Amino acid sequence: MIETLMQEVSEDLLVDSLSNMVSIQSVNPFDEAARPGHREQEFAEYFVTQMQALGLETDTRELVPGRANVWGRLRGTGGGPAIMLAGHMDTVGVPGYPTAFTPKVADGRLHGRGSCDMKAALACYLEVVRVLRDAGVSLKGDLIVAGVADEEHLMIGSKDWGRNGPHADFGIIGEPTELAVCPAHKGQYCLFVRTFGKAVHSSVPHLGENAIERMARIINAFADYNDELARRPAHPMCGHGTFNVGVISGGSISSAVPDFCQLEVDRRILPGETRERIVEEYTARIEPLTADDPGFRYEIVGGSIDTPALDVPLDSPIVTALAHAAETVTGAPAEVKALAAATDAPNMGFPSVLCGPGSIAQAHTTDEYVAIDQLTKATQIYLHTIMSMTG
Ligand SMILES: [Zn+2]
Repeated sequence: MIETLMQEVSEDLLVDSLSNMVSIQSVNPFDEAARPGHREQEFAEYFVTQMQALGLETDTRELVPGRANVWGRLRGTGGGPAIMLAGHMDTVGVPGYPTAFTPKVADGRLHGRGSCDMKAALACYLEVVRVLRDAGVSLKGDLIVAGVADEEHLMIGSKDWGRNGPHADFGIIGEPTELAVCPAHKGQYCLFVRTFGKAVHSSVPHLGENAIERMARIINAFADYNDELARRPAHPMCGHGTFNVGVISGGSISSAVPDFCQLEVDRRILPGETRERIVEEYTARIEPLTADDPGFRYEIVGGSIDTPALDVPLDSPIVTALAHAAETVTGAPAEVKALAAATDAPNMGFPSVLCGPGSIAQAHTTDEYVAIDQLTKATQIYLHTIMSMTG
């Protein structure tokens, strides 16, 4: 039965569907309000229409004006786990990419913004439902297809999903992994470090307290932090945590001693590292600086980005089923590894694993594409996984 279903996957339908999706502009508005050309909602409305045409029961949850999560449910007969196929509907921006919304097929690839990250997987999900429907398959558990908002910025979509559902027992998120199965990734926790001083005219700097100079001492205090992180025990898949000083701002004119400086730092965290632990580590490096500088005042606030690490156990049914499916479809042993980047997966509220068509190397570039044979294979992997778990 599974073999027959996999043969029903239509490359032509996948290409048509993904082409339509690429041509709908759904650039993430980032810190601005949603507006035409920057609305997942235009895409979400299209996606809902497609799910309805396939017979799914659909629902929408507006998060902020113009931005929504959407989903469709193929109701199961009972007695099996509910599985969610989820993907973000937003894309990164398109500066320097004039053909971003003009899908083009060439050399076995489909080009355009979002083609691999990650409208490709959303097209695969619709094809999964079509194949199941046309074959008259009744699943035991529910199959939920989900379009999620705002992955590329603050992940308001998946964070809301974790709080409000709908819930599934297992999730697959088809971020571009080149069909590798990724049950783990580091988290990302960004914090602001601020120093304070006393502003005076720069002709009498000895009367002031320089917040930027204080920040320089803080930056120096972190000089060996990455080395320390690299000496700690590695996570079997994620390796080591890392630290990066990303943004600095302070001062207003050169003829004044600055009374304020702010640093934004990025910490890639391993499964098990807590927010509290990170703040403690920062404090332990900064606090000694106050000893010989009585006026030294600082604060650590955040976090501007706060995505947990992902660590689904390797013996979880969703990992073993996906790995078996990938091996069956590709004819090679499944690659099971950590993804480099942080994703929606740890926010969803149930074990969710990444596996999808396309390569992260093409994501966010001005020549984004997905290999069409990976579209077909990803669809087959999803079908195989669903049938083996809840068919
Ligand atoms: Zn993505």
